[in-house]
Amino acid sequence: MTHVSDLQAFLDASPVNFLAVEETRRRLDAAGFSELRAVDAWTIRPGDRRYVRVNGSAIFAFVAGDAPAHKGVRIIAAHSDSPGFRVKPACEIVCDGGIVKLNTEVYGGPILYTWFDRPLSLAGRAILRGADPLHPVQRPVWFRRPLLVIPHLAIHFNRAVNEGNALSRQKDMLPVLGRVADKDAARGLVRRMVAEELGVAEADVLDYDLSLYTVEGASLVGLDGEFITSGRLDDLSMVHAALTALLESHGSGATRIMAIFDNEETGSGTKQGAASPVLADLLRRLCAALGGSEEDYYRCVADSFMVSADNAHGVHPNYMEKYDPTSHPVLGGGPVVKINANCKYMTDADSAAVFASVCERAGVPVQYFVNHSDVAGGSTLGNILTSQLPLRGVDMGAPVWAMHSARETASAADHDYTIRAFTEFFNC
Ligand code: ZN
Repeated sequence: MTHVSDLQAFLDASPVNFLAVEETRRRLDAAGFSELRAVDAWTIRPGDRRYVRVNGSAIFAFVAGDAPAHKGVRIIAAHSDSPGFRVKPACEIVCDGGIVKLNTEVYGGPILYTWFDRPLSLAGRAILRGADPLHPVQRPVWFRRPLLVIPHLAIHFNRAVNEGNALSRQKDMLPVLGRVADKDAARGLVRRMVAEELGVAEADVLDYDLSLYTVEGASLVGLDGEFITSGRLDDLSMVHAALTALLESHGSGATRIMAIFDNEETGSGTKQGAASPVLADLLRRLCAALGGSEEDYYRCVADSFMVSADNAHGVHPNYMEKYDPTSHPVLGGGPVVKINANCKYMTDADSAAVFASVCERAGVPVQYFVNHSDVAGGSTLGNILTSQLPLRGVDMGAPVWAMHSARETASAADHDYTIRAFTEFFNC
């Protein structure tokens, strides 16, 4: 299987953050990794392959190195979440004719109108009654069948629609779930659906986190299938590349870590997000469990390097004027180092040079992105992580078109290049 067809399978198995972590875990288990729980006392030996999950939506996997401070650690970070819509509590709204629509809230910054008129479904997690009220049971939920659509208003009611059409998140974007006999049939409908899907009693479904996702799978397009179009390429293509590199690399004696955070799209400010101490704590515990002292921990941090992997903007053939005149990466031209003078990215000349050297050793071309100086641009994981951990590192990603659309487009060749660069990095 080529890397890009494996990426298609990974994307199709990962409709939302919780399921992306499940699929990552399944692949780690198959490769001989085992779970470490944060509540247990850790003992780790060199060569151990372990992972830790946080909230079911973030996952940190590592292959332990020879010694706690030996050559530091090699980290590749990415994020599990994508912009979209979350189902609100008491979500069922019954309209004329028994049409049920769902009340939703926008998550992150999706391009709203890309979500109209396509088959959608729901996935996420359910929280079920357990023996201990402080520790209910968490189960993934995935309605695999098309369930919903957000129908657009017909052009006959708004002839100016193609001249630009402002959208209300509360009015325009609510998806239709189906038809019911009366209002009573709609009350608690989604909870009943969750109970039925999981084969549990309705009263045992204490709560749930459900998001909309686009049902159509990833597909290759272009003359030779040189592009991949899919929902959630940002940032699941980088999750897949980091995971594949972790599994395909042999290492160099240094500890290799894949850090998949949640909630990047909303600013990383949760316990499973990059602004929390979750990675610093993991590193500290890992060091101690390998027999290292506090001094070893600081030596380890000083000798470590991080690749913060989040997709980049490839130059769009219809909008050349939006991009920097000299540094505008192209789809198919290789992984992209992201640079910002005001430090929205962690990249500096030192870390950019390290990444370019790694790419050179892997035989992979490298490109550079800076914003057009009149365009604000986005942010990512790297500089948020350095507020907790003063690591050297680079912000990079594969170039994509239509970032935050319901379907984004990237290059098949770039995915292969990225995996080769990541594998080389883990082997340095
Ligand atoms: Zn991203």
